[in-house]
Amino acid sequence: MINWMEEAQKKQSELLSELQQLIQIPSVLDETQSSEGQPFGPGPNEALKLMLQKGIEAGMKVKNVDQMAGHIEMGEGDELLGILGHVDVVPAGKGWTYPPFEGHIENNRLYGRGAIDDKGPTIAAWMAMKIVKEAGIPLNKRVRLIIGTDEESGFRCVKRYFEKEEMPHIGFAPDADFPIINAEKGIATLQLATSKLEQDEQLQSFTAGTRTNMVPDLARAVLHLKHEAIESKFEQFLNEHKIQGSIKTDQHVIELTLEGKSAHAMEPNDGVNAGVYLAEFLKGIMTTSGSKTYVNFISSSFFEDSRGHTLALNYHDDESGDTTLNAGIFSFNPVSGGTIDVSLRYSVTYSFEQKLTECQQLLSEFGVSIDIVSNSNPHYVDQSDELIQSLSRVYKRQTGENATLLSIGGGTYARVLQKGVAFGMLFPGEKDVAHQVDEFVDIQNLIKAVAIYADAICELASIKS
Ligand SMILES: [Zn+2]
Repeated sequence: MINWMEEAQKKQSELLSELQQLIQIPSVLDETQSSEGQPFGPGPNEALKLMLQKGIEAGMKVKNVDQMAGHIEMGEGDELLGILGHVDVVPAGKGWTYPPFEGHIENNRLYGRGAIDDKGPTIAAWMAMKIVKEAGIPLNKRVRLIIGTDEESGFRCVKRYFEKEEMPHIGFAPDADFPIINAEKGIATLQLATSKLEQDEQLQSFTAGTRTNMVPDLARAVLHLKHEAIESKFEQFLNEHKIQGSIKTDQHVIELTLEGKSAHAMEPNDGVNAGVYLAEFLKGIMTTSGSKTYVNFISSSFFEDSRGHTLALNYHDDESGDTTLNAGIFSFNPVSGGTIDVSLRYSVTYSFEQKLTECQQLLSEFGVSIDIVSNSNPHYVDQSDELIQSLSRVYKRQTGENATLLSIGGGTYARVLQKGVAFGMLFPGEKDVAHQVDEFVDIQNLIKAVAIYADAICELASIKS
């Protein structure tokens, strides 16, 4: 049996220089320069072409699908193993210690935008294909590295790709965490809206948050009313809940701000929702019907409840845990009414339509409407499936650790595969620096990932004796 770790180590310098080459292309979406020849701008297109060129040089089959995605393929057989990575990156942002598009090596790390998301993992999978080919392992499946160029901004790359190309029978995506993520919750965006406005609403505006996938850390409200004790009441509320805020009063105009704590929507309990807290305070203050309905509704639906009990959206399963709700964007206007945009992360065995219908019926009694803005189904591969069993064996063999199965509330690139899981390449306990300043990949881990992917390709696609 081949020692894949040794084979990967031998390739260290080639691996690093290939990754540097790829990082040196600033493959950030640039819609101002988009054309048929480069739908996502020059950077993503150049990065895709570089990868396909490498495939040609290694004697493999390549295909460019409308300059949006492409593949490098080796092996023979009816069945197809897909490995899904992407070469587009998010913008660098400011404050880097090392140039973001260079691939600077220091402290056993390679720094650069895309080092861990997802150029490093894509190059690791690519190197794995090469060492499997060089080792002359006979394959009974085709193995295809599918390279997207729009993962960060809407998956248009893989949408187009799978309109034209076959869906792999099995696959994995090195664009998240090791060991194996086999359950990804469904993600729906809901808009809840209240109306019932009077002529002179006390609430003039109420705003918090800009994205449904984050817990809002700042909320503001402007009120038109006379209220003698509001300042001291607000102080008391802030103290009681150990949060910060401020209040300004000018005649009968009152402006309140409240600071919460930001967190990702996949676990709202990690944050403090500024909008929910501000509504919780205002529910004892508002008396006009539209204003009162809005803040009362927010408070009863979301205060100290991120699991949707009041809305009848709550659900739990063992495969993926609790369904969660994050109220991410709040907006109230005294003419049109109030809205709350919510990210619902639902468990893999959730009865989406039934639960939403129940919620709709419940809310209609309170004059609240609910709209499904978007919905992405859960993604799940059963733990007894041969794909999971094989990848678990590989992971254990290469790392000595058990491959604990992970369930997450976020979505990974693997969702676009029919039967596929996220498989690396961030190891357990490693800091996630994707999209951060000074993004890096640990060089030893990069080599280890090559060994794991090479072993996985053989486990899943070679002729077993
Ligand atoms: Zn990614």
